[in-house]
Amino acid sequence: MKKYNFSAGPAVLPREVIEKAAASVLNYNNSGFSILEVSHRSKDVVAAMDQAIALVKELYGLSDEYEVLFLQGGASTQFFQIPMNFLNEDETAGYINTGAWSKKAIKDAKAYGKVNVVASSEEQNFNYIPKNINIPSDLKYLHYTSNNTIFGTQFQSLPETDVRLICDMSSDIFSKPIDVSRFDLIYAGAQKNMGPAGVTLVIVKKSALGTVSRYVPVMLDYRTHIENVSMYNTPPVFAMYVSMLTLQWIKDNGGLEAMAKRNEAKAKILYDELDRNTLFKGHSVAEDRSLMNVTFTGVSEEMENEFLDRCKKEGLDGLKGHRSVGGLRASIYNALEAEGIQKLADLMRAFEEEKA
Ligand SMILES: *Cc1c(COP(=O)(O)O)cnc(C)c1O
Repeated sequence: MKKYNFSAGPAVLPREVIEKAAASVLNYNNSGFSILEVSHRSKDVVAAMDQAIALVKELYGLSDEYEVLFLQGGASTQFFQIPMNFLNEDETAGYINTGAWSKKAIKDAKAYGKVNVVASSEEQNFNYIPKNINIPSDLKYLHYTSNNTIFGTQFQSLPETDVRLICDMSSDIFSKPIDVSRFDLIYAGAQKNMGPAGVTLVIVKKSALGTVSRYVPVMLDYRTHIENVSMYNTPPVFAMYVSMLTLQWIKDNGGLEAMAKRNEAKAKILYDELDRNTLFKGHSVAEDRSLMNVTFTGVSEEMENEFLDRCKKEGLDGLKGHRSVGGLRASIYNALEAEGIQKLADLMRAFEEEKA
């Protein structure tokens, strides 16, 4: 039976990417060595890094003002690395609080400068994206989380402001085209929509760096990694390589416009069923629904568990919701095929009929 991986992260990757990755573990580019044992300074690994960077630039249409970095420490390291590099103690940054990941970013930023939480949806357990936000124009930057992996909400457009944007795009990176020129920095842990765990993508506007007066440790200064093309120290070679393969897959499958179309069609299958089905209820308000993480609850916990067991038996895996929302979560990233989502929707319908 074909299995479908609905896990939130590490998450599904395209089958052909996994096959190429597996081949590289046995014999990397016919070198007779595994990719796991070759030097990061070897010609092939340097070429793979250059290719990964070039693909990010091509997919987002980046101008030369932007640099692409492959770093370590996960998206969570960016929570403090960003204010450390962008925010002086007497300056204020704006943050939009749309969930658990935003809160972690806010907590760390407070250690480096002043933080103005300009909007929050916490009072409704983060089931919506704040609108018509009053954003002061003198903020050093505005940080937000474009897609809330745990709560299943997603910004449908960029925040309306002239303030420079910084965004955690961990769970919707490369899922649709975006206007990168509005951002000073975009970051994403690879393991949701780009590759395996162990590498973090950072896209940064070079001219926005170098404005803080504090000492920034060499390893945490973005300029170190720009100068050394993400090879200041040993990079996570395998995670970077698999990310490169996924970026190539995105390009070969029509790029970001095509991903967006596919993702909209895929999410529609599930949201239509959620709206129809009397046993399940979506967490997010309709207008802010995520195309990547669909969160929903059943009429009782007992019924949810019974349904989760059925899903597992049918080859649909990773659907248990995060403990802070409960219920179920279907993560339907780029690489998850529409057939799997259709299978889930069909099972929801069949389950409803059985219970009637
Ligand atoms: C998963 C996730 C993170 C944390 O990523 P790590 O790489 O594990 O640190 C941060 N932000 C968002 C939106 C996420 O989905």
